[in-house]
Amino acid sequence: MLESMPNPNSVPSLNYFDLLQIALAEARTSLSEGGIPIGAAIFNRQGELISSGHNRRVQQNDPSIHGETDAFRRAGRQISYRNLIMVTTLAPCWYCSGLVRQFGFRTVVVGESQNFSGGIDWLRSTGVEVIDLALPDCITLLTDYIRENPAVWNEDIGEPAPETH
Ligand SMILES: [Zn+2]
Repeated sequence: MLESMPNPNSVPSLNYFDLLQIALAEARTSLSEGGIPIGAAIFNRQGELISSGHNRRVQQNDPSIHGETDAFRRAGRQISYRNLIMVTTLAPCWYCSGLVRQFGFRTVVVGESQNFSGGIDWLRSTGVEVIDLALPDCITLLTDYIRENPAVWNEDIGEPAPETH
């Protein structure tokens, strides 16, 4: 299939690290707002930004606003997601992996999967291309947050904190 083999002469090669910087800036914005530092951004294949967003669980008291869902909602209605790229600072959770699959994104770029690997193995098994950049900036940002806010983190990934048992 032609569309799965982009012609290097006509399609600009994307620097995924550059795209990730937009998601990382969103993550830092969330942290500055007192929230969980996870951000995401959606780009087209030409590298043009469609939308970006960040986790707002704490800021808006809304557990459904993850980085990916925030960016997704801010993109508005799209005719197709097949040629859009979901970029996120952290491997998507089950909820966001389901969103990727539901709407047909074929490429996901993750800043890291060390703190949380989410659904990336499952996404790959369904044919979604997952590119893990393992960027130290993303790992450190979230590692520090988790160390200082373990209860909020456990809440975000759906794991009740031990002290709430
Ligand atoms: Zn999520």
